[in-house]
Amino acid sequence: MGTLLDEIIDWGGGVFGEEHMETLMQCVQCGKCTGGCPSGRITALRTRKLFRMAQEDMREEIFNAPELWYCTTCYTCYERCPKGVKCTDIMRVIRNLAAKEGHMSVPHRKIGVYALKTGHGVPIGPDQMKIRESLGLDSQPPTTQKYNEQLEEVQIICRETGFDALIDFDWDKMDLKEAEAKK
Ligand code: SF4
Ligand code: SF4
Repeated sequence: MGTLLDEIIDWGGGVFGEEHMETLMQCVQCGKCTGGCPSGRITALRTRKLFRMAQEDMREEIFNAPELWYCTTCYTCYERCPKGVKCTDIMRVIRNLAAKEGHMSVPHRKIGVYALKTGHGVPIGPDQMKIRESLGLDSQPPTTQKYNEQLEEVQIICRETGFDALIDFDWDKMDLKEAEAKK
């Protein structure tokens, strides 16, 4: 196995292109990303620190860092970085790699539960339906929310791709497995 940097470039390169991922090597630790991070103001997330850990091949430490999951993918750091580091996309790729090895945070797994149960990561409730109607839209979007019979197709995709195993989904309970749910 290569370094974490190699993995980031290899895995993320398939989605964003290798050059996009290689920008991580341009990070000079200026801290502008951390300084502007809305999540970092109220959590332990320090984008600059995580990137330094990635550069230093601190694979286990970064995969086990709870703050890896505190990023809201708002793209503020991406826009602010003076060195053109594709911060948010790199953060997402590091999460992907961590998730593949069972490190996905429980709140993120629970969003996956919604996707498996409803076809939506964020199902639309009565308030959102009213807003849609006030805008002249159908109260239900043309998704599994409106066409519930298509939910089975979504669930098949989740099974075929292994997404259910990735989040430790229990098909009998239609929820996370007990141990995961309690974390
Ligand atoms: S703003 Fe860019 S160069 Fe500065 S620490 Fe963050 S990622 Fe590195
Ligand atoms: S994308 Fe994530 S790390 Fe970057 S500023 Fe937003 S919350 Fe912070």
